[in-house]
Amino acid sequence: MVAPGREGDAAPLIEMRGIERTYVMGDNLVRALRGVDLTLERGSSVAIMGTSGSGKSTMMNIMGCLDQPTKGSYLLNGKDVARLSRSQLADVRGRMIGFVFQSFNLLSRTTALENVEMPLLYQGISSRERHRRAKVALEKVGLVGREDHHPNQLSGGQQQRVAIARALVGDAPIIMADEPTGNLDSRTSYEVMAILQGLVDQGKTVILVTHEADIAAYASRIITLRDGLIIDDRQQTPVSATAALAAIPPAHAAASAGVAP
Ligand code: ADP
Ligand code: MG
Repeated sequence: MVAPGREGDAAPLIEMRGIERTYVMGDNLVRALRGVDLTLERGSSVAIMGTSGSGKSTMMNIMGCLDQPTKGSYLLNGKDVARLSRSQLADVRGRMIGFVFQSFNLLSRTTALENVEMPLLYQGISSRERHRRAKVALEKVGLVGREDHHPNQLSGGQQQRVAIARALVGDAPIIMADEPTGNLDSRTSYEVMAILQGLVDQGKTVILVTHEADIAAYASRIITLRDGLIIDDRQQTPVSATAALAAIPPAHAAASAGVAP
């Protein structure tokens, strides 16, 4: 069923109703999501929490148009995306969503700049323009001068910043991050969260999955899942990651400041 047209800025960015996702495992059905309702406005930051197996990744995959619900409606930017074909879904994903993963997912034999250019490759954009946009994205995450480094020449935090630049390069309004700080020490985690908070200040919507309460504290809303249902949904005043960074003693800062050029 197609929802009445409120496509564009008048509609909430994300509107999910009665979302269910059931996996078939041989003779068993795994009900990973059992009826999730969620409305999300533009420019917000949300942390999705819950124990392992509660449905966080399933929810993220559906929100990110990587997967589709078994049941329920999902309006993204006012457009019904619950029943699109694979290629339509890929198209929506390309325009609307940038992804950041716990393991960075960078191509190892490829420079930072080339990694960031990757999402633009099949969009008919000239190589000169791809370079330009990728450089701008790397600037936004503070990696000027690292364009030609390969991932193994960068610290974990720098690699994650390359991944954030790659998520930004297509100018998608939504950034989705699954445990983006899961492989980082605490100072580097604050740096990454400060970048993500900066994106929210610029009007992006950031959705992150985390099981760490101190990372969720940087979001303005915390949604908790249990057994495929939202059991808690709270607004909060986010902690400032920039302030958290400033509070770290310089000695510690120097010790973990990353890899020299
Ligand atoms: P979380 O990310 O919170 O750990 P998941 O969304 O990955 O939770 O999983 C929710 C439930 O769905 C779990 O019981 C998990 O085993 C099951 N599940 C997830 N993905 C699949 C799949 N592809 N096939 C079968 N079951 C799955
Ligand atoms: Mg998961």
